[in-house]
Amino acid sequence: MFPGLCINQKGILNMAKKLPRCDACGRVFRPDRYNKHDQIYCLFPECVLARKRKRQRKSYNRRYRGDPEFRQSERDRAADAARRRRSAAKTACSVRDGPSAEPSAAAVSELCDLFTGFVSHLSQSDDPSVVRDLMSGYADRGRRLAAEPEKRFQQVQETFFNVPRHPF
Ligand SMILES: [Zn+2]
Repeated sequence: MFPGLCINQKGILNMAKKLPRCDACGRVFRPDRYNKHDQIYCLFPECVLARKRKRQRKSYNRRYRGDPEFRQSERDRAADAARRRRSAAKTACSVRDGPSAEPSAAAVSELCDLFTGFVSHLSQSDDPSVVRDLMSGYADRGRRLAAEPEKRFQQVQETFFNVPRHPF
């Protein structure tokens, strides 16, 4: 018989009874025989990537917490990057000629900072990778919503108007 397939007490073929589920995708997987008690991710490329990200995030955070020099250098690096981004945005804006109806680069940058702070507050995390992941998730969601506004609006309307009302 195939390993992992077993017959339970009712005689029903129970697939993968003892096989674990992947922490990332939830699929049942067969762990490596030499690592079966510790392996929590399957071998799908996305899950391998998720495992790698998790490991890197963990080691980054450990170092960030434990090494004051590294922490300071990371803060400086992030501040430098933000400064460069803002000045590049400003330059791009001033290069454009004439007044424009578009918001200024400084305003956009301000909004970016505001949104980053907001997401960080929502997630109660100061971990840049967590905040970045969340923000890209929100951006995807926003793009999806923007792509089909009518449909979404109808759904919202349905949800709203199908609420059972008080009879009086
Ligand atoms: Zn998986």
